[in-house]
Amino acid sequence: MRVVRVGLRSGSAPGHGYGILAKDGETVALIAGLPYADGGREPTGETVRLSDVTLLVPVEPSKILAVGRNFAAHAEEMGLALGGPPSVFMKPLQTLVAEGGDVVLPSSSAKVEHEGEIAVVIGRTARNVSKADAADYVFGFTCANDVSARDFQKGDPQITRGKGFDTFCPLGPWIETDVSLTQERGLSCTVNGELRQSGSTRDLIYDIPTMIEWLSSWTTLLPGDVVLMGSPGGTGPLLPGDKVEVEVEGVGVLTHLCVGEPAES
Ligand code: MG
Repeated sequence: MRVVRVGLRSGSAPGHGYGILAKDGETVALIAGLPYADGGREPTGETVRLSDVTLLVPVEPSKILAVGRNFAAHAEEMGLALGGPPSVFMKPLQTLVAEGGDVVLPSSSAKVEHEGEIAVVIGRTARNVSKADAADYVFGFTCANDVSARDFQKGDPQITRGKGFDTFCPLGPWIETDVSLTQERGLSCTVNGELRQSGSTRDLIYDIPTMIEWLSSWTTLLPGDVVLMGSPGGTGPLLPGDKVEVEVEGVGVLTHLCVGEPAES
């Protein structure tokens, strides 16, 4: 099942709503409320054409957690040591950008780069969940770009600013809920059609069940929360006008554009 969140321009329920994308990818069956609850997902009976609505970020998380240096090749290209506990940071909610949206490249940074990643969406409140039970708490997967301003990531005492500019987390286009946490899944990132990153979840240093156990040992994960699992090697620069596509095998393709920061008037 592919779950979307759409902006509704008119009709009986203006605003936004969650829905289930039809297998042909052309229509959305709207549901009432949130998609996560056990026994939820009550259809409203209304179906809209995808071409008549806007795809929004498919989740409304309380937090975005991200795992750093989770592929050996990326740790090496960043000059980061491996070992020790997971390297986890958070991205502000204002980083979120929907399918087809724009990443604004801040004029204050000389080096903004892409990190194509698989994103895990939590489906049930999770605290002190074991690896063995982790699958019960995952709603599905989506695609993400952990956009990073390298100069601030490396030069600041914390990486928060380098990872946290507005629009630095394109996410979508939908949540694929038919997933296995342990199945190997390919992952790629292209810029203007050029393949920049290619990886597989088989190379994750900390796999998804391990991260659900570790994160839920110290914070409560809520339905809709997002965990970015880390970037394979091959990150590279983003420039105004670039078109970025992040593909997660069996999930979909997230597309976004890059624009320069408007000059202050
Ligand atoms: Mg990353």
